[in-house]
Amino acid sequence: MSEHSRSGERILRGIPVSGGVCRGKIVVLGKARDAIPRHEISEAEVPQEIQRLEHALTQTREQILKVQRKVSEAMGAKDASIFDAHLLVLEDPTLIDEVTRVIQEKKINAEHAFQQVAEKYAATLSSMDDEYLRERSTDMRDVTARVLDNLLGRTGEGEVGKLKEPCIIISYDLAPSTTALFDRKMVLGFATDAGSRTSHTAIKARSLQIPAVVGLHDASKQLNTGQYALLDGYNGLLIVSPTDQTLFEYGQLVRKRVNLQEKLRDIRDESAITLDGVRITLSANVEQAADAEHVRACGAEGVGLFRTEYLFLNRETLPDEEEQYLAYRQVAAALKPHPVVVRTLDLGGDKFLSHLQMPQELNPFLGWRAIRFCLEERDIFRAQLRAILRAAVEGNIKMMYPMISGLDELNQANALVEECRKELKAERIPFGDALEIGAMIEIPSAVLAADSLAKRVKFFSIGTNDLIQYSLAVDRLNEKIAHLYEPTHPAIVRLIKATVDAGHRNGIWVGVCGEMAGDPTLVPLLLGLGVDELSAAFSVVPQVKFLIRRLKMSEARELAEFALNCECGSEILARSQELAQRIAPGLLENQN
Ligand code: PEP
Ligand code: MG
Repeated sequence: MSEHSRSGERILRGIPVSGGVCRGKIVVLGKARDAIPRHEISEAEVPQEIQRLEHALTQTREQILKVQRKVSEAMGAKDASIFDAHLLVLEDPTLIDEVTRVIQEKKINAEHAFQQVAEKYAATLSSMDDEYLRERSTDMRDVTARVLDNLLGRTGEGEVGKLKEPCIIISYDLAPSTTALFDRKMVLGFATDAGSRTSHTAIKARSLQIPAVVGLHDASKQLNTGQYALLDGYNGLLIVSPTDQTLFEYGQLVRKRVNLQEKLRDIRDESAITLDGVRITLSANVEQAADAEHVRACGAEGVGLFRTEYLFLNRETLPDEEEQYLAYRQVAAALKPHPVVVRTLDLGGDKFLSHLQMPQELNPFLGWRAIRFCLEERDIFRAQLRAILRAAVEGNIKMMYPMISGLDELNQANALVEECRKELKAERIPFGDALEIGAMIEIPSAVLAADSLAKRVKFFSIGTNDLIQYSLAVDRLNEKIAHLYEPTHPAIVRLIKATVDAGHRNGIWVGVCGEMAGDPTLVPLLLGLGVDELSAAFSVVPQVKFLIRRLKMSEARELAEFALNCECGSEILARSQELAQRIAPGLLENQN
């Protein structure tokens, strides 16, 4: 595919994160949060600008009261009282008077004046010694963002629900919770300025099976709703106003992919077995109970990772034990006798609940996330543990904890499970007594503690997405350093090997459920390192199976041997590509 700019068309390059090609009208969602336009206004426009400000304040007040009412109904008045502080900010006469004065004196637009003044207040509050006042700066910033959204007419999530025709979404960034709301009939694909391959938004795009490109820098600023574009999720391109020649070339590419899909369908019901007879367990990652049908359709043998947090997003209340029980049971029943590994709640990082007051953190991926959150919010955790235990009566459910950093956390979580077992027994509620529990290995300290952990669990599943981010100190969401996010870094290869060895030494199996498991180029390396199970997005399971069926385990082991003795990540990658290219050439072309 030629990539030069033909007359009239414009090519924007980003990071390909979900394969496929689509074309259609683009819809640009809210611009970058920090991009608040500043423009001067005339004397005559001042009253109108002040009126806009007052209207936005009223609108924000109504929105907050509405959320507060819902939270109060669902979780009680105490939880809802957190919004009182937000309402107070909106009524603060000093703040409002100052914004009004700035509009009148500097003759600038309301949003810019509001942001300037509110940020000054927030900065002052956050520098206070008094903890209570410091915390108020977070309220201040939350409310400011809402007021600015209203002034700028940015509705974010709301816009997604109001799409009237199929389109390509362009946005500065997308929260995984927003992506989870996408209606596949309306959203043909999406492209964002920020993000990288292992962000949960990118992962969600793969499970929605829509093309997606991230890391486009400032596409959302350059483009306007209504322009026509082609999105190439294989090569990471957004082509605005494509020429007829470009459309023709893409027609050919799509035909090639359709042929490949047909080839892949032929082996759907075959085993993932290497040419020299080694059988690999190939599972799929899911995010909701309804995904069970895709698991069957893609030819996976079960679920290696059920990201249960998606059950908690985009709603006003938490799912209770019963609701969770029904969801987990549904997947287990649909896929039995195949295993379904249910991961306990991994909130935090880039996944938050709008109705739970989680503090804004400077480093959310290093913060109050996953098992750390669950071990403190014990009622939430218990409800989930009980639901999983009960669902294990139906089918082959296993459970695993995310973000285990060492033995203490594992012991605490296991003790809670034990308590839940006792409770259920006392209440005479049936549960799966033999439920197997595993730990995700995604923090370097867990690799070093792997022998201790392995003695207390039945399996490990390596979360390479986080393991890479934490080992290499590379934020998995940040497109600016995406080139440093290196799955074949020698340190990563050795960490995976150390985990596999510790697991096997202690008689347990070791899987990989991070995105490495779904990358056909890297699969031989993982298998050569001794990984027993791979769990990948269901959209890529057929490719992974195709590759495994053309691989000799002896070649995979040779590659791993080379990698373990190699000092350079790019050499390991080149060798991995060479092998994958040799055994499955058609597969890797436009692979994503
Ligand atoms: C991982 O970290 O590799 C993983 C599978 O978990 P998540 O992507 O949900 O953080
Ligand atoms: Mg993880």
